[in-house]
Amino acid sequence: MQTAEVVYLGIGSSQGDRPGNLRRATEMIESLIGKIIRSSEVYETSPWGFESLENFLNMVLIAETFLAPDELLDKIHSIESALGRKRTGNRYSHRVIDIDILFYGNRVIKTDALTVPHPLLHRRKFVLVPLCSIAPEMVHPVKGKTIRALLDECTDEGMVVLFNQNA
Ligand code: AMP
Repeated sequence: MQTAEVVYLGIGSSQGDRPGNLRRATEMIESLIGKIIRSSEVYETSPWGFESLENFLNMVLIAETFLAPDELLDKIHSIESALGRKRTGNRYSHRVIDIDILFYGNRVIKTDALTVPHPLLHRRKFVLVPLCSIAPEMVHPVKGKTIRALLDECTDEGMVVLFNQNA
């Protein structure tokens, strides 16, 4: 029997109904990708890689999936499109929804379409803080360090604070 793989997904939104976008993405991940086994709190974060006054909301999910990596990326693209994501061509920009594959089990993948572990995750506090809250002992298969250690040594000075959903 085929076994499930554990995947770590980072989700972000900076446009429209940001909490609603994360909620809808989470629901679609559960129905199209697989069972969510852990999810972080939602964090409010400053834009990374470009200047703007509008903040992002970010969170990290751990899910079990039977999808192969390329199928997983296809499903992520369908979810992003269904939620109204338009690809602008700008590398870093505001977006209704962005879903990144952070880890696919312990696999190291490098194809034209996909690099896993995500090549920037260790440089981004908006990923490391929520990830560390749910998987501090997870070892990055390329860096050979735990998420806690990567967060300790990360020099990203961006803002990452818990988002109060009821405010
Ligand atoms: P983005 O603008 O963040 O949605 O990423 C654009 C493209 O990055 C996607 O269409 C993927 O082909 C590619 N990509 C490479 N590695 C990853 C990854 N680990 N997770 C998600 N997308 C990735």
